[in-house]
Amino acid sequence: MFSLKDKVALVTGASRGIGKAIALAYGRQGAKVMLCSRTESTLNAVADEIRAAGGEAQVFAGDVSDLSVADEAVASTVVAFGRMDILVNNAGITRDTLIIRMKDDDWANVIETNLTGPFAFTRAAAKVMMKQRYGRIINVSSVVGMMGNAGQVNYAASKAGLIGITKSLAKELGSRNVTVNAIAPGFIVTDMTDGLSDDMKAKVSSAIPLGDFGNADDIAAAACYLASDEARYVTGQTLQVDGGLLM
Ligand code: NAP
Repeated sequence: MFSLKDKVALVTGASRGIGKAIALAYGRQGAKVMLCSRTESTLNAVADEIRAAGGEAQVFAGDVSDLSVADEAVASTVVAFGRMDILVNNAGITRDTLIIRMKDDDWANVIETNLTGPFAFTRAAAKVMMKQRYGRIINVSSVVGMMGNAGQVNYAASKAGLIGITKSLAKELGSRNVTVNAIAPGFIVTDMTDGLSDDMKAKVSSAIPLGDFGNADDIAAAACYLASDEARYVTGQTLQVDGGLLM
């Protein structure tokens, strides 16, 4: 089930955390994977891991908030592997602070990375996928985009925006056999949540029915499903993977 044999995937933010777990899982399921983030050395290490397990991977180092990078990354994927079936918009950052202390750059950097980047990657990918009459676009949003969180107006706006893109694009591309879905992780153990205090981690965990943070493989499993042929009739949805935090 959920085979991705011979599918071609581009995963942003693939050097660490959730994106790395998705890239490794796609490699295991038989996909050829283009890995994108700003740091070539860590991307190469992930690519080596995929190759060592018998898979195919290439890297593209670039900053997703730079609008020219998306076209180059998608073009490189098609040159390397001949097509592009799956796009995972996963790269993301936080710059948390209360709104009265939020600098213009705290707002702009988060919106440019988490929302404008996915817009540009999706625009570039849609051109390829519409011609192929096949595609899977997966946006990594967050439950924070659905329920809000004090100190995260920039992040919540970017993640709610991704859900709006997901629904609009699902309507736009459905007739071309391109599905567009979002995943809304809850609290997942990665570098992003590493900085939370032990008190905060305990408080959050006590609000999660399954009792603890998730791990990156929990999100990778959802990303495999949404990319698979088994999910062919699912589009415009936001799949929460959050231990029951928001319901
Ligand atoms: P992470 O461990 O901090 O990893 C972030 C990834 O994004 C890294 O690979 C990083 O690579 C890349 N990245 C950051 N800025 C970039 C840029 N401007 N251009 C290209 N790549 C960039 O974070 P994570 O927890 O895995 O988060 C992955 C996604 O899940 C994010 O969109 C995040 O908002 C979302 N999410 C996470 C959680 C959670 O609890 N962890 C919950 C909900 C949603 P480089 O540094 O090499 O560029």
